[in-house]
Amino acid sequence: MSDYPQLSLLIGGETITSGRETVDVLDPASGEAFAALPRATSADLDTALGHAEAGFAKWRATSADEREAILRKAAGLIRERAKDIGAAITREQGKPVKEAIGETIYCAMLLEFYAGECKRNYGRTLVRPDGQRAEVRHEPVGPIAGFSAWNFPALNVMRKIGGALAAGCSVIVKPSEETPAGGLAMVQAMLDAGVPGEACQAVFGVPDEISRHLLGSPIIRKMTFTGSTAVGKHLAALAAENLQRATLELGGHGPVLVFEDADIDKALDTMAANKFRNAGQVCVSPTRFLVEEGVFERFRDGFVERAKAITVGNGMDKETQMGPMASERGPDGIQAKVADARDKGGRLLAGGERIGNQGFFHQPTVLAEVPIDAEIMNEEPFGPVAIINPMPGYDAMIKEANRLPYGLAAYAWTQNAGKRARLASEIESGMIAINGGGVSAVDAPFGGVKWSGYGLEDGAEGVAACMVSKTVHETF
Ligand code: NAD
Repeated sequence: MSDYPQLSLLIGGETITSGRETVDVLDPASGEAFAALPRATSADLDTALGHAEAGFAKWRATSADEREAILRKAAGLIRERAKDIGAAITREQGKPVKEAIGETIYCAMLLEFYAGECKRNYGRTLVRPDGQRAEVRHEPVGPIAGFSAWNFPALNVMRKIGGALAAGCSVIVKPSEETPAGGLAMVQAMLDAGVPGEACQAVFGVPDEISRHLLGSPIIRKMTFTGSTAVGKHLAALAAENLQRATLELGGHGPVLVFEDADIDKALDTMAANKFRNAGQVCVSPTRFLVEEGVFERFRDGFVERAKAITVGNGMDKETQMGPMASERGPDGIQAKVADARDKGGRLLAGGERIGNQGFFHQPTVLAEVPIDAEIMNEEPFGPVAIINPMPGYDAMIKEANRLPYGLAAYAWTQNAGKRARLASEIESGMIAINGGGVSAVDAPFGGVKWSGYGLEDGAEGVAACMVSKTVHETF
């Protein structure tokens, strides 16, 4: 296994590895501490803010061609380093190394898309009589503060820094303290490719102290966060005090509508693999399977069979299909939700237990016929649990799908074109996959509605979210 990298703060181009308090990073496969992460002091944060202001002036003045070339070079470095970065992600987060390398390559793909966007910042000219001209131009919003979660240590960070840098902004990112190496590798690739050290920085510390400090400064013009709805609301309120713009990628509770006319085998193969990817710790994870009564038993039994066949183990082992959960909070939370679902009458059909007494492993778990007052039907489980409930038909299924305050990803399986058209317009979500499992693509906006957040990442929208518009009215 490749060595885990030395952890650091990256402030103004300086790599700070010592002389600071540290916080332990735990291996989710053993529960043991294996690395120490330096925490930024209050003075470090002020230094980073000063650099972000200077870095913004420097970076926004680079030509679109130059920015594009630098971002493409960074993407190339990420591709070259993907094996080592993937191994570090597995060590700190637990996911199978194949998934971790895939996440890293996806970061490079996203950055390549964003690099192209540097040159696609067109603006527009308005119709005016002779002697006048009016133009709408898009300018970078300014220094951005990004806070990201531990489930995709590299991708969550790339989503924060890629769009910002493509737009011409400077960015200070705080990756998760639980999974720092993946995000640091993204920032380091930017610096190695030629992004000025003042324009792309990484800090760590006590999350609430860091976000209060950064968002308390008028230097920061925009905040972007990936994590829970509760923390998202708190950060939105902090950002409101300085009227900083905000992008919030929060939780979801993915409904999956399976109709009698669907290709059931394909739906089973696709959705079971999707459910247990990254041990279910995915904001777009499919969670509530709403299955039309005529195919309920077949779907339920097929899903249980697939869940039981999954190989759980250390993410570094080649045969592992599902690794441990990322932290102790994971299996503890799932245990509590499964117990509550059973108390309320739900049936446990697979899994339900922690595995072993080392690390944070949990069995792939399937619950069926869970009443809607159970916690797990209302709160995001964020773990390897599927809930499969029988439903009488379309109207009940769409009503249940839209019942919760979340609206991130939804999935539907049907061969009927009429139903597909209705679903596409009636589902309340930022993304829906129909007869497939993918809701994320580098050229497509990624984000939710309702309590799943606002603002977008990825696609042209991911860069537009880091820009402001200015109208220039000119008379000759
Ligand atoms: P959380 O929201 O407490 O933490 C998520 C990340 O935000 C962590 O990396 C944390 O360091 C950071 N954070 C927390 N408080 C912060 C603050 N005040 N300022 C800045 N950053 C802060 O979530 P959690 O306890 O790790 O997980 C709980 C739930 O959050 C999950 O069950 C899931 O519902 C949701 N979640 C969603 C995503 C997503 O991809 N949208 C990712 C992780 C967690």
